[in-house]
Amino acid sequence: SIAYLNGVFLALDEPALPIEERGHQFGDGVYEVIRIYGGKPFMLDEHLDRLYRSAEAIRLQLDSDRAFFQTIIHQLIDRSGLADLDIYLQVTRGIAPRNHTFPNCPVSISMTAKPSRATPVELKENGAAVWMHPDERWLNCHIKSLNLLPNILAKQVAADNDCLEAVLVRDGYVTEGSSSNIYIVEKGAIRTAPLTNQILAGITRIAVKRIAQELDIPFHEQPFTPEELRNADEAFLTSTTLEVMPVVRYHDDTVIGSGKPGTITQALSERLSALTL
Ligand code: PLP
Repeated sequence: SIAYLNGVFLALDEPALPIEERGHQFGDGVYEVIRIYGGKPFMLDEHLDRLYRSAEAIRLQLDSDRAFFQTIIHQLIDRSGLADLDIYLQVTRGIAPRNHTFPNCPVSISMTAKPSRATPVELKENGAAVWMHPDERWLNCHIKSLNLLPNILAKQVAADNDCLEAVLVRDGYVTEGSSSNIYIVEKGAIRTAPLTNQILAGITRIAVKRIAQELDIPFHEQPFTPEELRNADEAFLTSTTLEVMPVVRYHDDTVIGSGKPGTITQALSERLSALTL
Protein backbone atom coordinates (compact mmCIF):
# COMPACT_ATOMS: atom_id res chain seq x y z
CA SER A 1 0.00 0.00 0.00
CA ILE A 2 1.17 3.49 -0.83
CA ALA A 3 -0.20 7.02 -0.94
CA TYR A 4 0.18 10.26 -2.87
CA LEU A 5 -0.39 13.77 -1.57
CA ASN A 6 0.20 17.02 -3.43
CA GLY A 7 3.30 15.96 -5.34
CA VAL A 8 4.76 13.50 -2.84
CA PHE A 9 4.57 9.70 -2.58
CA LEU A 10 4.38 8.45 1.00
CA ALA A 11 3.47 5.50 3.17
CA LEU A 12 -0.21 5.03 3.86
CA ASP A 13 0.15 5.53 7.60
CA GLU A 14 2.39 8.59 7.42
CA PRO A 15 0.89 11.74 8.97
CA ALA A 16 0.30 14.00 6.02
CA LEU A 17 -2.27 16.78 6.35
CA PRO A 18 -2.66 19.81 8.62
CA ILE A 19 -5.82 19.82 10.73
CA GLU A 20 -7.21 22.78 8.83
CA GLU A 21 -7.75 20.87 5.63
CA ARG A 22 -11.20 21.34 4.15
CA GLY A 23 -11.77 17.69 3.37
CA HIS A 24 -11.07 16.92 7.01
CA GLN A 25 -13.10 19.77 8.51
CA PHE A 26 -15.96 20.21 6.03
CA GLY A 27 -15.94 17.19 3.73
CA ASP A 28 -15.43 19.91 1.12
CA GLY A 29 -14.34 17.76 -1.78
CA VAL A 30 -15.07 14.95 -4.20
CA TYR A 31 -13.59 11.51 -4.82
CA GLU A 32 -13.35 8.45 -7.03
CA VAL A 33 -12.59 4.77 -6.45
CA ILE A 34 -10.91 3.12 -9.43
CA ARG A 35 -10.24 -0.59 -9.83
CA ILE A 36 -6.97 -1.81 -11.32
CA TYR A 37 -7.07 -5.29 -12.88
CA GLY A 38 -3.76 -6.88 -13.90
CA GLY A 39 -2.05 -3.49 -13.73
CA LYS A 40 -4.67 -1.82 -15.96
CA PRO A 41 -7.16 0.78 -14.67
CA PHE A 42 -10.74 -0.21 -15.58
CA MET A 43 -12.77 2.55 -17.31
CA LEU A 44 -10.37 5.26 -16.16
CA ASP A 45 -11.68 7.77 -18.73
CA GLU A 46 -15.20 7.42 -17.33
CA HIS A 47 -13.92 7.85 -13.75
CA LEU A 48 -12.03 11.01 -14.71
CA ASP A 49 -15.07 12.35 -16.57
CA ARG A 50 -17.11 11.91 -13.40
CA LEU A 51 -14.37 13.46 -11.24
CA TYR A 52 -14.40 16.63 -13.37
CA ARG A 53 -18.20 16.71 -13.32
CA SER A 54 -18.27 16.35 -9.52
CA ALA A 55 -15.62 19.07 -9.10
CA GLU A 56 -17.53 21.43 -11.37
CA ALA A 57 -20.78 20.73 -9.52
CA ILE A 58 -19.25 21.93 -6.24
CA ARG A 59 -17.46 24.85 -7.99
CA LEU A 60 -14.05 23.39 -7.22
CA GLN A 61 -11.63 24.57 -9.87
CA LEU A 62 -9.56 21.58 -10.93
CA ASP A 63 -6.65 22.76 -13.06
CA SER A 64 -4.84 19.41 -13.21
CA ASP A 65 -5.51 17.78 -16.57
CA ARG A 66 -6.34 14.16 -17.32
CA ALA A 67 -2.72 13.35 -18.19
CA PHE A 68 -1.71 14.43 -14.70
CA PHE A 69 -4.15 12.00 -13.05
CA GLN A 70 -3.24 9.21 -15.47
CA THR A 71 0.46 9.68 -14.72
CA ILE A 72 0.08 9.65 -10.93
CA ILE A 73 -2.22 6.62 -11.08
CA HIS A 74 0.29 4.69 -13.19
CA GLN A 75 3.12 5.70 -10.87
CA LEU A 76 1.10 4.46 -7.90
CA ILE A 77 0.46 1.14 -9.66
CA ASP A 78 4.19 0.76 -10.41
CA ARG A 79 5.30 1.74 -6.91
CA SER A 80 2.72 -0.50 -5.24
CA GLY A 81 4.15 -3.59 -6.90
CA LEU A 82 0.56 -4.87 -7.07
CA ALA A 83 -1.43 -6.06 -10.08
CA ASP A 84 -4.93 -5.87 -8.61
CA LEU A 85 -5.61 -2.81 -6.54
CA ASP A 86 -8.06 -0.09 -5.63
CA ILE A 87 -7.05 3.51 -6.15
CA TYR A 88 -8.87 6.00 -3.95
CA LEU A 89 -8.59 9.54 -5.33
CA GLN A 90 -9.75 12.63 -3.44
CA VAL A 91 -9.71 16.31 -4.32
CA THR A 92 -10.55 18.94 -1.72
CA ARG A 93 -10.74 22.72 -1.68
CA GLY A 94 -7.38 22.80 0.07
CA ILE A 95 -5.72 23.91 3.27
CA ALA A 96 -6.87 27.22 4.79
CA PRO A 97 -8.03 28.71 8.10
CA ARG A 98 -11.48 27.31 8.85
CA ASN A 99 -14.17 29.47 7.26
CA HIS A 100 -17.16 28.28 5.27
CA THR A 101 -16.66 30.51 2.23
CA PHE A 102 -14.23 29.36 -0.48
CA PRO A 103 -10.57 29.95 0.37
CA ASN A 104 -8.01 31.29 -2.05
CA CYS A 105 -5.55 28.38 -2.01
CA PRO A 106 -4.52 25.44 -4.15
CA VAL A 107 -6.68 22.32 -4.08
CA SER A 108 -5.42 19.22 -2.27
CA ILE A 109 -5.08 16.04 -4.33
CA SER A 110 -4.52 12.78 -2.53
CA MET A 111 -4.66 9.13 -3.50
CA THR A 112 -4.15 5.76 -1.91
CA ALA A 113 -3.27 2.48 -3.62
CA LYS A 114 -4.20 -0.67 -1.75
CA PRO A 115 -4.72 -4.33 -2.63
CA SER A 116 -8.20 -4.87 -4.09
CA ARG A 117 -10.74 -5.47 -1.40
CA ALA A 118 -11.49 -9.16 -1.81
CA THR A 119 -14.97 -9.51 -3.32
CA PRO A 120 -16.77 -11.93 -1.02
CA VAL A 121 -16.72 -14.99 -3.29
CA GLU A 122 -19.30 -16.86 -1.29
CA LEU A 123 -21.72 -13.93 -1.45
CA LYS A 124 -21.15 -13.64 -5.18
CA GLU A 125 -21.97 -17.30 -5.67
CA ASN A 126 -24.95 -17.43 -3.35
CA GLY A 127 -26.22 -13.85 -3.50
CA ALA A 128 -26.54 -11.17 -0.84
CA ALA A 129 -29.27 -9.83 1.43
CA VAL A 130 -30.34 -6.17 1.49
CA TRP A 131 -31.90 -3.88 4.07
CA MET A 132 -34.44 -1.19 3.16
CA HIS A 133 -33.61 2.23 4.58
CA PRO A 134 -35.07 5.70 4.03
CA ASP A 135 -32.91 7.74 1.66
CA GLU A 136 -31.97 10.58 4.01
CA ARG A 137 -29.41 12.17 1.71
CA TRP A 138 -29.44 15.61 0.14
CA LEU A 139 -30.66 16.46 -3.37
CA ASN A 140 -27.28 16.29 -5.11
CA CYS A 141 -26.58 12.57 -5.01
CA HIS A 142 -25.19 12.71 -8.56
CA ILE A 143 -22.08 14.40 -7.06
CA LYS A 144 -19.51 11.97 -5.68
CA SER A 145 -19.05 14.13 -2.61
CA LEU A 146 -16.96 13.31 0.46
CA ASN A 147 -20.03 13.82 2.65
CA LEU A 148 -21.13 10.24 3.23
CA LEU A 149 -22.73 10.36 6.66
CA PRO A 150 -26.23 9.26 5.58
CA ASN A 151 -24.66 6.48 3.49
CA ILE A 152 -22.54 5.33 6.42
CA LEU A 153 -25.47 5.33 8.84
CA ALA A 154 -27.66 3.37 6.44
CA LYS A 155 -24.92 0.85 5.63
CA GLN A 156 -24.22 0.29 9.33
CA VAL A 157 -27.88 -0.53 9.99
CA ALA A 158 -27.68 -3.05 7.14
CA ALA A 159 -24.48 -4.54 8.59
CA ASP A 160 -26.00 -4.68 12.09
CA ASN A 161 -28.69 -6.84 10.51
CA ASP A 162 -26.30 -9.08 8.59
CA CYS A 163 -27.12 -7.51 5.26
CA LEU A 164 -24.52 -6.57 2.68
CA GLU A 165 -26.12 -3.36 1.52
CA ALA A 166 -28.72 -0.77 2.49
CA VAL A 167 -31.19 -0.09 -0.31
CA LEU A 168 -32.33 3.51 -0.13
CA VAL A 169 -35.97 4.50 -0.61
CA ARG A 170 -37.14 8.03 -1.41
CA ASP A 171 -40.77 9.00 -2.05
CA GLY A 172 -41.78 5.36 -2.35
CA TYR A 173 -39.13 4.43 -4.92
CA VAL A 174 -35.78 2.68 -4.66
CA THR A 175 -32.99 5.08 -5.59
CA GLU A 176 -29.76 3.09 -5.14
CA GLY A 177 -27.62 1.33 -2.54
CA SER A 178 -25.58 3.21 0.05
CA SER A 179 -22.50 2.59 -2.11
CA SER A 180 -23.88 0.83 -5.18
CA ASN A 181 -26.53 0.97 -7.89
CA ILE A 182 -29.39 -1.51 -7.82
CA TYR A 183 -31.35 -3.26 -10.57
CA ILE A 184 -34.22 -5.69 -10.92
CA VAL A 185 -34.91 -8.14 -13.71
CA GLU A 186 -38.51 -8.87 -14.67
CA LYS A 187 -39.65 -10.83 -17.72
CA GLY A 188 -36.16 -10.77 -19.16
CA ALA A 189 -35.71 -6.98 -18.91
CA ILE A 190 -33.45 -4.99 -16.58
CA ARG A 191 -34.83 -1.99 -14.69
CA THR A 192 -32.88 0.60 -12.70
CA ALA A 193 -33.46 4.17 -11.53
CA PRO A 194 -32.83 6.82 -14.20
CA LEU A 195 -29.86 9.18 -13.95
CA THR A 196 -31.13 12.13 -11.94
CA ASN A 197 -29.84 14.13 -8.99
CA GLN A 198 -31.14 11.29 -6.79
CA ILE A 199 -28.47 8.73 -7.69
CA LEU A 200 -24.80 8.49 -8.51
CA ALA A 201 -24.07 7.69 -12.14
CA GLY A 202 -22.10 4.51 -11.44
CA ILE A 203 -19.25 3.58 -13.75
CA THR A 204 -20.20 -0.08 -13.38
CA ARG A 205 -23.74 0.98 -14.35
CA ILE A 206 -22.31 2.26 -17.66
CA ALA A 207 -20.53 -1.09 -18.15
CA VAL A 208 -23.68 -3.10 -17.36
CA LYS A 209 -25.80 -0.98 -19.69
CA ARG A 210 -23.32 -1.59 -22.53
CA ILE A 211 -23.25 -5.32 -21.82
CA ALA A 212 -27.05 -5.46 -21.77
CA GLN A 213 -27.13 -3.79 -25.18
CA GLU A 214 -24.54 -6.26 -26.47
CA LEU A 215 -26.56 -9.22 -25.16
CA ASP A 216 -29.88 -7.78 -26.44
CA ILE A 217 -31.33 -7.53 -22.95
CA PRO A 218 -33.76 -4.60 -22.63
CA PHE A 219 -32.43 -1.98 -20.16
CA HIS A 220 -35.16 0.29 -18.80
CA GLU A 221 -34.19 3.38 -16.83
CA GLN A 222 -37.34 3.66 -14.76
CA PRO A 223 -37.67 3.70 -10.99
CA PHE A 224 -39.09 0.70 -9.11
CA THR A 225 -40.68 0.32 -5.70
CA PRO A 226 -39.55 -1.86 -2.77
CA GLU A 227 -42.59 -4.03 -3.58
CA GLU A 228 -41.38 -4.51 -7.16
CA LEU A 229 -37.95 -5.46 -5.82
CA ARG A 230 -39.61 -7.98 -3.53
CA ASN A 231 -41.48 -9.52 -6.49
CA ALA A 232 -38.68 -9.32 -9.07
CA ASP A 233 -37.38 -12.38 -10.93
CA GLU A 234 -33.82 -11.31 -10.16
CA ALA A 235 -32.02 -8.41 -8.50
CA PHE A 236 -28.43 -7.28 -8.34
CA LEU A 237 -26.13 -4.48 -7.21
CA THR A 238 -23.19 -2.96 -9.05
CA SER A 239 -20.18 -0.98 -7.94
CA THR A 240 -16.49 -0.72 -8.71
CA THR A 241 -15.62 -2.96 -5.76
CA LEU A 242 -18.65 -5.31 -5.82
CA GLU A 243 -18.77 -5.60 -9.63
CA VAL A 244 -22.09 -7.44 -10.24
CA MET A 245 -23.46 -8.76 -6.93
CA PRO A 246 -26.63 -10.87 -6.97
CA VAL A 247 -29.33 -9.93 -4.44
CA VAL A 248 -31.44 -12.87 -3.32
CA ARG A 249 -32.96 -11.88 -0.01
CA TYR A 250 -34.60 -9.14 1.98
CA HIS A 251 -33.53 -8.70 5.60
CA ASP A 252 -36.77 -10.30 6.77
CA ASP A 253 -35.88 -13.47 4.86
CA THR A 254 -38.22 -12.70 1.97
CA VAL A 255 -36.66 -14.52 -0.95
CA ILE A 256 -36.18 -12.58 -4.19
CA GLY A 257 -36.72 -14.61 -7.36
CA SER A 258 -35.55 -18.21 -6.96
CA GLY A 259 -33.36 -17.29 -3.98
CA LYS A 260 -30.31 -17.95 -6.14
CA PRO A 261 -28.39 -15.61 -8.46
CA GLY A 262 -30.49 -15.25 -11.62
CA THR A 263 -29.41 -16.21 -15.12
CA ILE A 264 -29.32 -12.64 -16.46
CA THR A 265 -27.42 -11.49 -13.38
CA GLN A 266 -24.89 -14.26 -13.93
CA ALA A 267 -24.54 -13.48 -17.63
CA LEU A 268 -23.81 -9.82 -16.83
CA SER A 269 -21.36 -10.80 -14.10
CA GLU A 270 -19.46 -13.18 -16.36
CA ARG A 271 -19.29 -10.70 -19.21
CA LEU A 272 -18.04 -7.97 -16.87
CA SER A 273 -15.35 -10.29 -15.51
CA ALA A 274 -14.27 -11.08 -19.06
CA LEU A 275 -13.82 -7.35 -19.74
CA THR A 276 -11.44 -7.03 -16.81
CA LEU A 277 -9.10 -9.84 -17.94
N1 PLP B 1 -23.96 4.80 -5.80
C1 PLP B 1 -23.25 5.27 -4.74
C2 PLP B 1 -23.94 6.10 -3.71
C3 PLP B 1 -21.89 4.95 -4.62
O1 PLP B 1 -21.17 5.41 -3.58
C4 PLP B 1 -21.28 4.12 -5.62
C5 PLP B 1 -19.87 3.75 -5.56
O2 PLP B 1 -19.23 3.70 -4.55
C6 PLP B 1 -22.06 3.66 -6.67
C7 PLP B 1 -23.40 4.03 -6.74
C8 PLP B 1 -21.47 2.78 -7.75
O3 PLP B 1 -20.60 3.53 -8.57
P1 PLP B 1 -19.38 2.87 -9.34
O4 PLP B 1 -19.95 1.77 -10.21
O5 PLP B 1 -18.81 3.99 -10.13
O6 PLP B 1 -18.44 2.34 -8.31
